[in-house]
Amino acid sequence: MIGAMFQRLIRRRGSAPDPDAWRSVAAGFEFLDHLGAAELDRLRTMCGQFLARKQISGAAGFEPDETVRLSIAIQACLPILHLDLAAYDGFVEIVVYPARFLVPREQVDEAGVVHQSVEALSGEAMDGGPVVLSWEDTAAEGLDAGMSVVIHEFVHKLDLLDGLADGIPPLPRARRGRWREVLERSYQWFGAELDEVESLIPDTVDPESPAADHWYRQLPLDPYAATDHAEFFAVAAETFFLEPAILADALPEFYRELALFFRQNPLGGAKGP
Ligand SMILES: [Zn+2]
Repeated sequence: MIGAMFQRLIRRRGSAPDPDAWRSVAAGFEFLDHLGAAELDRLRTMCGQFLARKQISGAAGFEPDETVRLSIAIQACLPILHLDLAAYDGFVEIVVYPARFLVPREQVDEAGVVHQSVEALSGEAMDGGPVVLSWEDTAAEGLDAGMSVVIHEFVHKLDLLDGLADGIPPLPRARRGRWREVLERSYQWFGAELDEVESLIPDTVDPESPAADHWYRQLPLDPYAATDHAEFFAVAAETFFLEPAILADALPEFYRELALFFRQNPLGGAKGP
């Protein structure tokens, strides 16, 4: 009995992943480069604990191997490196598809007509449920510049800790007002920037086509950030960890709020705001 209990304890606490395997996967993620040896060690230990608590399963014939598990753990643990792994305790399951997965959507327009469509997603975080990911968009070699679907979905989980996907994570009362104010100002500013960029796209270019990327690339964040406050927080967090200089330059106030919340400054002490 004691043996079984001890085993359970070990499993929950988790053993740190094999250093060589971990290092070789971590080397693929350039955005870890600014971390010092102690922080990398902390991240590796946390990855072991994360993997011991989470159940990562494949869908559509996909079988997650150690590289898949470590790639997810590294990106999921980075935002909470100086917070607490307990932030992710509300769910256990992570489902991985080989590539983007189709999700049926239903929308009711102003006339009350129901429109059914199918959306191809790279990730989804369900309130109280699993995080669903596309491996193609999660692997280090599949990441688009400044984007990590894993960080995005797990930041949604942090946002949801207080029950609301509103771009406001649980914060001490004294800091909540400031966050709300800066979030609103930053969100409005980005919306205006997006409108400006969209007005510059010639009529001959379809704004939904890759040809329009030339214009959207001028923005500091992916246009998806303009969807709502929750998406703004998740997208800005991706940029915070992957391309911190771009966020600090465009939205210094929100960068500072994120640095305080995550207790990290990816720009490094000297260069930080
Ligand atoms: Zn999202």
